[in-house]
Amino acid sequence: MHLRGKTAIVTGSNSGIGLGIARELARAGADVVLNSFTDREEDHALAQEIADAHGVSARYIAADLSDAAAARGLVERAGRCDILVNNAGIQHVAPIDDFPAEKWDAIIAINLSSAFHTTAAALPMMRAAGWGRVINIASAHGLTASPYKSAYVAAKHGIVGFSKVTALETAREPITCNAVCPGYVLTPLVEAQIPDQMKAHGMDRETVIREVMLERQPSKEFATTEQLGGTCVFLCSDAAAQITGTTISVDGGWTAL
Ligand code: NAD
Repeated sequence: MHLRGKTAIVTGSNSGIGLGIARELARAGADVVLNSFTDREEDHALAQEIADAHGVSARYIAADLSDAAAARGLVERAGRCDILVNNAGIQHVAPIDDFPAEKWDAIIAINLSSAFHTTAAALPMMRAAGWGRVINIASAHGLTASPYKSAYVAAKHGIVGFSKVTALETAREPITCNAVCPGYVLTPLVEAQIPDQMKAHGMDRETVIREVMLERQPSKEFATTEQLGGTCVFLCSDAAAQITGTTISVDGGWTAL
């Protein structure tokens, strides 16, 4: 429970990796602020569930992170930010000459620019508190590329670079910034693709996972949202106080290939 008394904002945390990270930070004692762009009863219920499960304070704040003012407003409305996890992200897959310009703009805004705005709003709060952790959820695609994912790969390489700059600007302070680079993670979004892939390839579930989805992941296993959460908890620990400006891959060996 080493994070008791800290407040963590996790962007894009009403599902998938963000929700897993929020749960693990709460398990370690942090108060958490969940976020997405929707404002539904079930979003607020998730925060209540985390508060009840871990005896922490948990809130859900709706903010559309494609909007710069809303991204800064999320941190301001939270009022305190010791741990900032920039996780919100979207994807679109198409060849460059067919890639819709509005999709490019949306991916750069949500996957990259929002992290600049939330970080700019959070650093003064971390400085005032005398401690801070910025964790940017990049991707194996922050270190390598795949065809048809131009905006995503550009944004994820961008967030790795931005993490290094944040680390250098805070290097003399008790604040660190790192990028976590997941390979394929079994989120509801990925789970939902399995039946279609099974049909398209005429394969059973296990074969489609191993041969198609995890083609580039040598472990042939998905990373889990709990493992991503655990990585963030580690980055918030004293053991990680000198880890800054780097990337941590959680990718079953993808980037070792
Ligand atoms: P997901 O779709 O379950 O989660 C994305 C989150 O971002 C959701 O909570 C969604 O509501 C939120 N979001 C989307 N647009 C938003 C907006 N405009 N404003 C605020 N929130 C918004 O997907 P996920 O797989 O959990 O992905 C989370 C992060 O992890 C992303 O940055 C993604 O690129 C990265 N990632 C995922 C994988 C994977 O295999 N699942 C691999 C590498 C990296």
